[in-house]
Amino acid sequence: MANIVVLGAGLGGTLMAYELKAELRAGDTLTVIGQGSHYHFVPSNPWVAAGWRERDEVEIDISATMARKGIAFRPEGAARLHPDENRVELSDGSSIPYDYLVLATGPDLAFDEIPGLGPDGFTQSICHVDHAEKAFLALEKFIANPGPIVVGAVQGASCFGPAYEFAFILDTELRKRRVRDKVPMTFVTSEPYIGHLGLDGVGDTKGLLESQMRNRHIKFITNARVQKVEDGKMTVEEVGEDGVVKKTSELPFNYSMMLPAFRGVAAVRGLEGLTNPRGFILVDKHQRNPKFPDIFAVGVGVAIPPMGPTPVPVGVPKTGFMIESMVTATAQNIGALLHGRVPEAQGSWNAVCLADFGDGGVAFVAEPQIPPRNLNWSAQGKWVHYAKVAFEKYFIRKIRRGESEPFYERWMMEGLGIRRLTRPR
Ligand SMILES: Cc1cc2nc3c(=O)[nH]c(=O)nc-3n(C[C@H](O)[C@H](O)[C@H](O)COP(=O)(O)OP(=O)(O)OC[C@H]3O[C@@H](n4cnc5c(N)ncnc54)[C@H](O)[C@@H]3O)c2cc1C
Repeated sequence: MANIVVLGAGLGGTLMAYELKAELRAGDTLTVIGQGSHYHFVPSNPWVAAGWRERDEVEIDISATMARKGIAFRPEGAARLHPDENRVELSDGSSIPYDYLVLATGPDLAFDEIPGLGPDGFTQSICHVDHAEKAFLALEKFIANPGPIVVGAVQGASCFGPAYEFAFILDTELRKRRVRDKVPMTFVTSEPYIGHLGLDGVGDTKGLLESQMRNRHIKFITNARVQKVEDGKMTVEEVGEDGVVKKTSELPFNYSMMLPAFRGVAAVRGLEGLTNPRGFILVDKHQRNPKFPDIFAVGVGVAIPPMGPTPVPVGVPKTGFMIESMVTATAQNIGALLHGRVPEAQGSWNAVCLADFGDGGVAFVAEPQIPPRNLNWSAQGKWVHYAKVAFEKYFIRKIRRGESEPFYERWMMEGLGIRRLTRPR
């Protein structure tokens, strides 16, 4: 009989546990290690930061769902993985042994790589619900004393959609509050052009997002490298195609939200053969680490090489559907190993995204994520806002009920030609 352990109880980890449960033989055990007993729906964080959602609307006591599903849940958090000994050391000093381990720890937020960046410095963040709540308090203060805003994503970032979402959501909120006319806004991004998104654009995201910037009076700086942030001032270098700094600007701000670069979490960073130099987990096309074949990985913690060279480093985003495709492949592959078969499932890694602007939005599908693509589609409209709200409610309900991919979801997505696996079982 086998002990299967999932490390991380976010988007990838919870779905991973639900799908693995169905693959187990009688007597196999499944344990999820989380950090605290709550799941947060990360895509709602921009709404929390704008005051459009309360924390309790996007938070679930995941330990209760796990208990109902018969999955052991440890909320202590992992201190260190010991892959040579097949055990995860928890923060209380105890250890959990495994036969198969799935790493689903998401990102560590590398604020410390830029002086003054992040919630402990001078910029806000929406990466965690705690940050988003703090960002909302800062926004309330800002509205009493409006001035310039700087929003964006720094060098090495790989998650750009939420930066655009938050810039446009702020624009919508400030217009509602009748103070937008007092707020010069600048979008600062390491992307080589607006709408690149770490994917070299999808459909016409370049045109759609640039036109939104113009319509909403948001200036932008691309190929940007943030040198430092001080109280009310961000120093930004603009880099040319040749990688040489063209211009250095000091941008004043009364409010700023910048997405940081990501790296692997401390519990796994620096493990030879398991991680790349940034601490992301190396996996093959079956989500399996080549050096430690008992270890699989899903989600933002997985190492994916960048799309291609850009003047300022830009990472590839790992979006929700892509993560779900990694999860389904991993569950089927561990299931295959448990039942004596060869693991063959491969996630499609298709990117499907809804970016909400409060009063509209942009949707895109990239299949595969690296161009040239079979499906390269983007569109905009008010429907995206409603679709994202509906998706939020649906997804949170799914997590609370302990489901990953109900039959009607699979049926609908397959009807649209969007599949989780490249080679269905
Ligand atoms: C602000 C924001 C908005 C986003 N919006 C969208 C969107 O609209 N659509 C979309 O497709 N994608 C979106 N994404 C991208 C992606 O879908 C999410 O980041 C998603 O939550 C990633 O899932 P994950 O499981 O990899 O990581 P997470 O959901 O972050 O989960 C990782 C979990 O691991 C836990 N963990 C970390 N270290 C340890 C440890 N040592 N021990 C135990 N547990 C640990 C963490 O506490 C966390 O619960 C967004 C990302 C961000 C940052």
